[in-house]
Amino acid sequence: MARHVVVIGAGIVGACSAAWIQRKGLRVTLIDRSDPGEETSSGNAGSVSPTAVLPVAMPGMLRQIPQWLLDPLGPLAIRWSYLPKAAPWLIRFLSCANREQMWRTANGMRGLLAPVFECYAPLLDRANASDLIRREGCLYVYDSKEAFEADRPMQDLRRKLGAKLEDIGESEIRRLEPSLSTKFKWGIHAPENGLTVNPQRLTKTIAGQVVRDGGRFIRAEVREIELRPDGRQVIHTSEGEESADAAVIAAGAWSGRLAALLRDKVPLESQRGYHVTMADPAVPVRRMVNWVRRRVFATPMEMGLRLAGTVEIAGLRAEPNWRRADILVDIAKEMYPDLNVSKVTRWMGHRPCLPDSLPVIGPSPRAPGIFYAFGHGHVGMCGAPGTGRTIAELVAGERPQIDIQPFRVDRF
Ligand SMILES: Cc1cc2nc3c(=O)[nH]c(=O)nc-3n(C[C@H](O)[C@H](O)[C@H](O)COP(=O)(O)OP(=O)(O)OC[C@H]3O[C@@H](n4cnc5c(N)ncnc54)[C@H](O)[C@@H]3O)c2cc1C
Repeated sequence: MARHVVVIGAGIVGACSAAWIQRKGLRVTLIDRSDPGEETSSGNAGSVSPTAVLPVAMPGMLRQIPQWLLDPLGPLAIRWSYLPKAAPWLIRFLSCANREQMWRTANGMRGLLAPVFECYAPLLDRANASDLIRREGCLYVYDSKEAFEADRPMQDLRRKLGAKLEDIGESEIRRLEPSLSTKFKWGIHAPENGLTVNPQRLTKTIAGQVVRDGGRFIRAEVREIELRPDGRQVIHTSEGEESADAAVIAAGAWSGRLAALLRDKVPLESQRGYHVTMADPAVPVRRMVNWVRRRVFATPMEMGLRLAGTVEIAGLRAEPNWRRADILVDIAKEMYPDLNVSKVTRWMGHRPCLPDSLPVIGPSPRAPGIFYAFGHGHVGMCGAPGTGRTIAELVAGERPQIDIQPFRVDRF
């Protein structure tokens, strides 16, 4: 009988890992305490980009933080009661805001993200669902020349890292996205970028195909992971035990506790984010638009127009601050003056973030047969299929096609 692999977590990373492992001819069981795709992979902005390789902590960021925190429409908020808990992580995060780390992260992420489309394609072809990803490019827009010029070093850096970016002016912005406010007179078109029209359906489709192809899905909470002397693992869940030849921890922002059970300590923190989706936007929007100064993405999805972004440091337990989402409605109205905001849904989710903006992908150095696949931060939809292929190669005992050194769990 083929070796049995348990994948813990059925977000986009777990779903892609399970699907790629199955393609190696191994038996797969996916375990999640919710149905697939109910957490962070459900409500994100849906950007699928091969070149989103720059870290969150960038050189010079420290100077901008006070201004972000003081601006009620700003991209960053900290729940002050959570600050003592978050402080050690924040210090590590800020210490990554230097050029050396920036290049280390960008080079690591380049290998992981470059094959994003080629790694989604076989999974979506198999599920007859290629319509879930569209490759129509993305627009970065600016409402002042100063903002455009201030962002130029960042765009030049992206170009240096291989991104195809075209400077465009007012008339081209109007032609590409006629509903956008006329205040956006400066722009950049990234023709290679893509989007998913529904991140949750994407995740559920890939997980559902794993089951249709003979895998199992168990809805249960994983509580303990026992390592047996014979090299097997027993996964203890709220619904019983599952024995495995290998186990993959892909539990998103909740992976830190599971890794700690195996004595692998990782500085994983949630960068909470919000979205609003306007079900009946009443304005045509064809492609993703990033208002760079506000750090938000507007994405046309099959559920309507979604505005997503913002970072809130408040941990995994605190209630959402829906004011952060309401701010996004105001920003949406500024971007699309004729937007209908009468039908709005709101959402909050947990980006699983490590200080260096690199995920953890690879074997545990301490726990034989355990593989990690978490910490994809702001780019999990872009990094998941490449992670899935890499994890499958490792579990099957093959040499991975990408360099996994930057993603080692013991790098901290
Ligand atoms: C506002 C916002 C916008 C974003 N925009 C983008 C974007 O445009 N492009 C992009 O690439 N990324 C984006 N992201 C990031 C992306 O959504 C995440 O990186 C990605 O969804 C993480 O996927 P995951 O599978 O690791 O985690 P999740 O989707 O959170 O899945 C983890 C799963 O593990 C399960 N789990 C946890 N603990 C246990 C346990 N003990 N037992 C059983 N199950 C457990 C959970 O129930 C959950 O289903 C955005 C995020 C946010 C918040």
